[in-house]
Amino acid sequence: MSRVIGIDLGTTNSCVAVLENGQPTVISNAGGYKTTPSMFAITQDGKRLVGHLAKRQAITNSKHTVYACKRLIGRRFDAPEVQKSIDLSPYDIVRGPNDDPRIEIGGKAFTCPEVSATILREMKRVAEEYLGEPVSEAVITVPAYFNDTQRQCTKDAGKIAGLEVLRIINEPTAAALAYGFNRPGEERVAVYDLGGGTFDISILEMSDGVLEVLATSGDTFLGGEDFDRRVVQHLLDTFRESEGIDLRADPMALQRLKDAAEKAKCDLSAREQTEVNLPFIASGDDGPRHLSIEISRDTLERLVEDVVSATLKTVEVCVKDSGLQPGDIDQVVLVGGQTRMPLVQSKVAEYFGRRAHKGVNPDEVVAVGAAIQAESLLSDEDSVLLLDVTPLSLGIATFGGHFARLIERNTTVPVRKGHIFTTTRDNQSAVKIRVLQGEADAAAENDLLGEFVLTGIRPARKGEPEIDVSFDIDANGIVSVSARDLATGKEQSITVNATGTLSDEEIQQIIEDQELYEVALKEGEE
Ligand code: AMP
Repeated sequence: MSRVIGIDLGTTNSCVAVLENGQPTVISNAGGYKTTPSMFAITQDGKRLVGHLAKRQAITNSKHTVYACKRLIGRRFDAPEVQKSIDLSPYDIVRGPNDDPRIEIGGKAFTCPEVSATILREMKRVAEEYLGEPVSEAVITVPAYFNDTQRQCTKDAGKIAGLEVLRIINEPTAAALAYGFNRPGEERVAVYDLGGGTFDISILEMSDGVLEVLATSGDTFLGGEDFDRRVVQHLLDTFRESEGIDLRADPMALQRLKDAAEKAKCDLSAREQTEVNLPFIASGDDGPRHLSIEISRDTLERLVEDVVSATLKTVEVCVKDSGLQPGDIDQVVLVGGQTRMPLVQSKVAEYFGRRAHKGVNPDEVVAVGAAIQAESLLSDEDSVLLLDVTPLSLGIATFGGHFARLIERNTTVPVRKGHIFTTTRDNQSAVKIRVLQGEADAAAENDLLGEFVLTGIRPARKGEPEIDVSFDIDANGIVSVSARDLATGKEQSITVNATGTLSDEEIQQIIEDQELYEVALKEGEE
């Protein structure tokens, strides 16, 4: 039987794990690292690089090095998050034919699932090298707060990478699975997950093999990178004040600053003071200029305090949704590299009135949870029963631009809810339905998952036909819709034209192009 791997596809770093003899193992890559940068690059001579190799050359090739693609995946080009990324990214983001953002590097516009697939393929390769056998199935994690389109796109990325995605699970849920692995008794756990680009909070109840998510919330556009940006801003301002030079227009200097800012931020988790040194960062009339700026932990904390506070506001909403009080939580589990920051730890501890559990590695715990879930899906006896929730309400647009909720957020999945539709005109043969996900009362402010037209409604007076439309959210958090004419019992055919996702034909085309490329690469290598 071939093995199923668990992959944590992170904004900044990715990690792969597998269960061996019942014990989770995090697999190291060829460089000996347990995490691999989620980066993809194309060099001047057309070589494609992934992971550490891509990261290593990012400074000199920033325009053709993609990072944080997870911030773009499954979003529409016009979404504010994408527009913000366009301003911030050294690589070019262009509008794709499906109104999706595409990343233009090395003369080609890549879809986001394609970029994510390069990273998944690398994680697959790392696992295959370790296991000594091919791997074709995986459980992949996503932020709990990912909507349907973001989940679909992640699944597509798996397919492009040659992986059958057996299940998409939420990162905090995976972390809780890993924390609760072989742990008897009943506990209420809060998982606070602050990674490179996303933030999630989940409140769960665990009792002997049953893991029930009570509530989840988050922000898919908030993470360690926001902390880095604040530090970069501070360095730019300080340098301009002292040297009179603005480095904002110099992409190579900005990339060096970004790297140095992240390093300084990480240093300050262990020390009170650090220094950023970047020799030859610019040249003035009188020769080269060097950047040398001291930063204290206090300064860093002042720069990012509002970002940390924003996460705690979300925590408050989530705890309220779970029906519990902060004091009811027995254990707090911290996940994601950014939770190593002392300010994050102290603010979380202050809110829950208890220090976080120290027993899990925040970088690896999500992949471990995915591997545990993978094994549980394979084995006959269900070792863990996982009851997750949908993070966002699902509904439809109604007359006057309102949003009618059919499935409330934090409903346990899988779930199916029906809704009866009828006509507003005599002999009307079709109705158009817009499916939305989100929490706003105004339909336009929520994410449009897709729209469909119910056709073939039998001729009748207005209001007479009864068509039962079912909205399903499966265990992956993915939405599907079906319809039945109650009078005839006939199934209506409906296709939801998902916005921003790839069609099956497009995915197939990408897979074929990729295979061609690999053959070409192998031939070129010989
Ligand atoms: P993840 O997405 O979980 O890999 O988290 C990556 C984020 O964690 C990046 O923004 C890193 O800069 C940040 N990070 C990693 N180590 C530390 C540390 N020691 N202190 C503060 N942030 C860190």
